[in-house]
Amino acid sequence: MVLSHVCVECGHDLARVRVRREAHYGLPMVRCPNCDTVAVRRMHPAWRAWRRFLRVKTSLGVLLLQLAALKFFVGGGVGLCEWWLLLVADALDANAARPVEWALPIAVTLLFAVGLGTWLTAGFAHWRERFLPWLIYFLIVGAVLAVPRFIVPLIENGASGQITLLEEAAGWMVRLVGLMAMLVVAIIVGGYPGLLLERAVAGFRRWAWQARRRRLRARRRLHA
Ligand SMILES: [Zn+2]
Repeated sequence: MVLSHVCVECGHDLARVRVRREAHYGLPMVRCPNCDTVAVRRMHPAWRAWRRFLRVKTSLGVLLLQLAALKFFVGGGVGLCEWWLLLVADALDANAARPVEWALPIAVTLLFAVGLGTWLTAGFAHWRERFLPWLIYFLIVGAVLAVPRFIVPLIENGASGQITLLEEAAGWMVRLVGLMAMLVVAIIVGGYPGLLLERAVAGFRRWAWQARRRRLRARRRLHA
């Protein structure tokens, strides 16, 4: 649909004039019924701007969704690491009032791992290095886990807090090992759902693209 296309010679509105395909390049030609000037069909700038806006809006939505997922999974990963450390400390504590309940943390961790594995697989399907999202996630969560151990004590104590820094480093390493274990679990329980989702999305894209092509071809036949 053309909103408007005005003849440059006489100002006649060509929007309702049917397009004829030019034989050599297949360009959409319109002949002005008023003065016989031939022109290539032009889309109205407003229409073109609207289509560009739709494209930008889609990629902006994807970006915001990815940022939300990043915030959720980084926060969740940090929280789970700290939670498991407390649980293990409780379990090792001989003077604990009651035994540790493992069912809830295991269930929550498994659910989180399925989500994390699915996101890191299907959410970055277009990346050529498939391990890269996993590595970046590990580095980000590792950095966030380091902030309260190194950055905050450094600001508070300056260089004099070296002995505590060594202790903090040990605590940080334990958390990193826990994080690595969680990523292994995420690959095991989330990798396959991620691949399934990725295949479904690719299938849908292919279908949408073919439908669009069929539509364009039908329109061209109509105008020919
Ligand atoms: Zn004209």
